[in-house]
Amino acid sequence: MKRGTFQLMKSVNKSTILNKIRLSEPLSRAQIAQETGITPPTVSSIVKELIAENLVEESILGESRGGRKPTMLLIKRNGHFVIGIDAGSNAIKGVATDLVGSILSETEIQILPHISKEYFLQTLKEVVRTIFMGIDDKKKILGIGVAMHGVVDVSSGVSLYSSNSGLRDIPIKEELEKEFNVMVMVENNSRAMALGEYWFGNHEEVDSFVAINIGRGVGSGIVDKGRLFYGAQDIAGEIGHMTMDLDGELCSCGNRGCFETFVTGEAIVRRAKEKIKEAPKELTAEDVYKYAKEENKPYIDILEETGQLIGIGVVNLIHLLNPNKIVLGGGVLNSAEFLMKDIRQTIQERALTEKARMNTVIEVSLLGKNSTILGAAALLLVEIF
Ligand SMILES: [Zn+2]
Repeated sequence: MKRGTFQLMKSVNKSTILNKIRLSEPLSRAQIAQETGITPPTVSSIVKELIAENLVEESILGESRGGRKPTMLLIKRNGHFVIGIDAGSNAIKGVATDLVGSILSETEIQILPHISKEYFLQTLKEVVRTIFMGIDDKKKILGIGVAMHGVVDVSSGVSLYSSNSGLRDIPIKEELEKEFNVMVMVENNSRAMALGEYWFGNHEEVDSFVAINIGRGVGSGIVDKGRLFYGAQDIAGEIGHMTMDLDGELCSCGNRGCFETFVTGEAIVRRAKEKIKEAPKELTAEDVYKYAKEENKPYIDILEETGQLIGIGVVNLIHLLNPNKIVLGGGVLNSAEFLMKDIRQTIQERALTEKARMNTVIEVSLLGKNSTILGAAALLLVEIF
């Protein structure tokens, strides 16, 4: 589907109704009218449009107290498909999903750390092609959403800089649109993850939502009233580079003592080696978790300290944005069982007000490794819903 097709047909009422169905399906027309305040005739005519556009379908699941069962409305599962791509630092993954985020097919190609721009694009296209060819009815493909690590210019869909490969100025959107002739959206991976969590993570609708990705680096995405928040120069959410220690460790960004230098997998290993004399030379973050699980106290201490440090970053975020909910994801959160107690305790100790301490919801991502790729798919859905 070409860019713009859906925006032209979109209206406030239509978005409201479609989102109402998405979040609370199955719903009857009467329930939609009641819960949105839109008049029943308007609901009926918009629902008719949504059914004609293959976005919504009727089912007969409804219950009524006597009389005829009302016809219930659902998001149409196989009405449209979206291709989601997670272009990470060591692999490019692709999925096809339906409109409710069920993954229908997936593929993955590993990439080497120092590849050329051409090789990257070629691999990216190969991943998209595999998924694209697997969908029989190409007309049902709404588009391709790409979550790219590093700095992305969202309007042009260009990857400006990826720290792992060192590549600059990759015209992802242009190349994919030329090749596949569908709408393409490109977004930074942490922002995509936030959107994926917001859309598919089974969170109730909240005004202000932040997802923090802690893995090789630390990034976050801010979702404000259902939309990603970028700031004036597109760097809103770069909490990995908040300074926590003026004289701290050198960060990949060139500054010292960034949040990232305390809590990434690499930072956990560094702190473990500093504090545990008998730590093996080739220790990995996975090993730290493994030893902690084996009830090896020094390693448990390292992870609990990591929880405190993450907690401090989270408190800074609470003071800056005061979100309703913060979701934590990324590789480091695989060891959440050793982190969460101290993250929560640090918030209790440091957040400014009782309400902020008690009411800020902190959760671990339920979507796990799929949150970024589903977020990539959601980039397209935001345009429609
Ligand atoms: Zn930094």
